[in-house]
Amino acid sequence: MTGAGPFLPGSTLGVVGGGQLGRMFALDARRMGYTVVVLDPDPKSPTGQIADDRIVTSYTDADAMRQLVERCDVVTYEFENVNADAVATAEGSGHVRPGSHVLRIAQHRLIEKGALVENGFPVAEFAAVDTMADMVKAFERIGTPAVLKTATSGYDGKGQIVLRSAVDMREAHTDLRRQSEALILEAFVPFDLEISVIAARGPDGEVVCFPPSENQHVNGILDVSIVPARIPVEVRDAAVKLASGIAEALDVVGLVAVEMFVTTDGQLLVNEIAPRPHNSGHYTQDACATSQFEQLIRAICSLPLGSTELLSPVVMVNLLGDIWADAGGTPDWDAALGVHGAVLHLYGKSEARIGRKMAHINVTAPDVETALARALDARERAAGRG
Ligand code: AMP
Repeated sequence: MTGAGPFLPGSTLGVVGGGQLGRMFALDARRMGYTVVVLDPDPKSPTGQIADDRIVTSYTDADAMRQLVERCDVVTYEFENVNADAVATAEGSGHVRPGSHVLRIAQHRLIEKGALVENGFPVAEFAAVDTMADMVKAFERIGTPAVLKTATSGYDGKGQIVLRSAVDMREAHTDLRRQSEALILEAFVPFDLEISVIAARGPDGEVVCFPPSENQHVNGILDVSIVPARIPVEVRDAAVKLASGIAEALDVVGLVAVEMFVTTDGQLLVNEIAPRPHNSGHYTQDACATSQFEQLIRAICSLPLGSTELLSPVVMVNLLGDIWADAGGTPDWDAALGVHGAVLHLYGKSEARIGRKMAHINVTAPDVETALARALDARERAAGRG
């Protein structure tokens, strides 16, 4: 660790977590001349394949976290469920960006919702649920439909149950209490669409946002991101204002992805935040002047933030392990790459399980509808159905 920055190319960056987000961070970091060290239990993780060096241990290993921070000029993380106490301790010996205070907020849905409300940001009605008695009380207030979620460790729609009537209440409570002590009941939001905005903030307080992306989910997992989002310009501006407000209010240094609902009456409600690169920001890799990964590097290294200008309409499609199964082994890349404007990003995961994020394809085109049709076509071709 040296000084407070700027940390110029040639410096060493650490990343906690070896998944695809860390991999794409490492690819951009190496392109920019940085050295990358990853902390992950798997030496051959998607990030481990790209990084210069690996600390092979669990995310809860506080000693290793401190070692990583001491060894690197700046450390960041690619997922929220890292040991926040270990990060807080390690912060004493160097730079972790975003800081552990942001991590603590993003790791716990109740703390997250509380922090958003406290700072005046709009969220759906919610209540903390511990016992069955809390559940009954929360249900009386919020009504149906509602969504019961675990407060911690939920991702990609896991750890949540939609409740259509009070009849389902007891079973849902028992089921989710097995996964987490703390639960949250949220009003089910009647939304037109879901969007997200990725804000970047530097240590000097400068904030820039990428254009909102329109996100479609299947089984709680992001399926398609469409940019520009098909929303009125006032909603677009309001979404960007909301995301930059959150980056400021939470004192984020790095990125914060803000997922929002656009309700049927045109209001924005924040669903959740993630202080890291986000799946819905992958479109930036091939359609913006600066990718979200380079932007993260710039922000945490105290460098000028890059232009977030959208250079072309773009659609990103996720490729889950299901595509490998559909294709009977390896996807038909030859056919998929025959689609005009298709760019493949493959994560280097050895096992293609159903529901596992394996790759994505970005397609740029002169208009968003063409990009969407071509991106879906590319995925169908990959699955052997083209
Ligand atoms: P989450 O893990 O909270 O991002 O939820 C995954 C997906 O479930 C979201 O992207 C929405 O499609 C849906 N969802 C979550 N919470 C709600 C809610 N309160 N109302 C309606 N849909 C929801």
